Parts: sequence; C-alpha cells; structure tokens
Amino acid sequence: MKIDILTIFPDFFRGPLDYGIVRRARETGLVEISIHDLRAFTKDKHRTVDDRPFGGGEGMVLKPEPIFECVESFGDVAPRAARLSGAAKRSVILLSAQGRRLDQALAAELSALDRIVLICGRYEGVDERISEHLADREISIGDYVLSGGELGAAVIVDTVTRLIPGAVGNQNSTRQESFTEALAGQSDLAGDGPSSTCVSGGLLDYPHYTRPADFRGMTVPEVLVNGNHDQIRSWRRRTALAKTLRNRPDLLERVALSADERELLEEIKLDCIKLD
Ligand code: SAH
Repeated sequence: MKIDILTIFPDFFRGPLDYGIVRRARETGLVEISIHDLRAFTKDKHRTVDDRPFGGGEGMVLKPEPIFECVESFGDVAPRAARLSGAAKRSVILLSAQGRRLDQALAAELSALDRIVLICGRYEGVDERISEHLADREISIGDYVLSGGELGAAVIVDTVTRLIPGAVGNQNSTRQESFTEALAGQSDLAGDGPSSTCVSGGLLDYPHYTRPADFRGMTVPEVLVNGNHDQIRSWRRRTALAKTLRNRPDLLERVALSADERELLEEIKLDCIKLD
C-alpha cells in the first residue's frame, strides 16, 4: 500500500512511524509512506498556506491551492467519482473533527485499498472545497478537537498498516482483538491443536497476563495456568463480556450475541448485582 501524508509540519512524522509493526512494514515494502510539505506547493515568497476566513470569524483557514496541487502532482489517485463509487481502490481522506468516526471496521476497509492520501488540517480547519471536490471522505479519530490532523494521520497509518496481511507475524492475533467482528462461521480460531483463545466478536479483548504468576502477592487467575484449553476459553469469553459490560456497554447493543453468550451475560449481571 502507498500512503501519502500532506502536512505543513513534515517533521512531526519523525518518530511516530519509525517503530514496531509500522517500521517493519515500511522496511519490507508492505507500505510505502511519503510525507509532503504543503509549503513546497505554494508560489508566493512567504510560502503562504493559510488565509483569513470569508465571512469573518476566528483564526485562519488552510488554503485550497497547495492541497489540490500536491494531490494533483501524484498523477494517479484516480478521479473522485471512481474513488467514491469504490471502482478505484484509492482514497483521498481529509482528517476532520467533523468526519466519520474511525473504528476497526473502517480501518479494515481502508487496509484493502492500495493507496491512501491523508490531508492534515491545522488552525480553524481546511477550505471546505477540499472535502467537497478533492477528498472522497472525512475521517475523525474521535469526538474531541485536536490542534492538527497529524496525530490523526499517524493513528490511521498505524491501525491500517497492522491489518495488511503480512504486517503482523501471526495474522490470527489481529482477527481476535477488541472490536473485531468474527468472520462468518468463526467463533473460535481454527489452528493446529487445541485452542484456548477466542475471538472478541466485536466486543473488547479478554485480559492478558504473563510471568511472574505471583507478583507482589497479585496472582494470575488459576484457570490460566492449569492447561485446560476449554476452561481457559470459557474464562476468556466470560471476562471479555464482563469487561465490555463494565467499560463499553454500548458495544453489546451492536453485536449479535450467541444464545450461550446471552446466558453468560445474564449470569455476569446477576453476579454484579450480588456484589453491589
Ligand atoms: N474548527 C474545527 C477544528 C479545527 S482543528 C472544528 O470545530 O471542527 C484543526 C485540524 O485538526 C482540523 O482541520 C483537522 O485536520 C484536525 N482535527 C481536529 N480534530 C480532529 C479529530 N477529532 N480527528 C481528526 N482530525 C482532527
């Protein structure tokens, strides 16, 4: 996948994209990331990228010309209509607090494309003609306002890259994580030998522990060290449900639970009431 990032602060990306999975994916050529300085696409001697808003109001707005010219310099991002219809496996994305909120399903959709362009806004935002005529979508990374799109772009690069086949050593691990919907017919991961893991099915991941088994008197749950895969799997399913109920009950309304899971959830709720 090719990823282009348009920004007025290119140095911002020194670091965040140079570690772990993203770094490895870049080194092995799974992703190629280019950072473009919008000031290089200005024509005046002050290299102006922003201007005052029409109609008055606070702050400055990023001008359309450098952004259009930068994207046009790529030559091969496909016409906007083809990107909107899905005919082209490319997307020009404007980072915006007003965009569709990023989630794991959207990250998975983006990971199937072969080129994404990320436009980072600053100041009060970006001239609206970018979202009307150049970008094919606006994405927000959450319901809060950042001072620029760069952190959002780094978040998208990270979450999308790790979903590209080959980026993570064991692909099963990205299929069972928090928020990840199970594939059709898949409730547990097929693999060699007995499996003690379970997919999150769109809920939160189950708790993880590692050595030492006893750390300052804080012990890991007994079931995890007894080697019984069936018991471990059902403990994990139960704790994932309990954690989702506690921290993100909204997710429970969005996913289809199996009859077993619904029963388990009722038991967990009863236990919570007893503890209160
Ligand atoms: N006036 C705008 C905020 C501008 S913040 C508003 O009220 O919606 C400046 C830039 O930061 C935006 O153009 C966008 O590129 C980026 N940004 C701010 N919040 C963001 C968010 N939640 N997700 C993604 N990008 C964001």
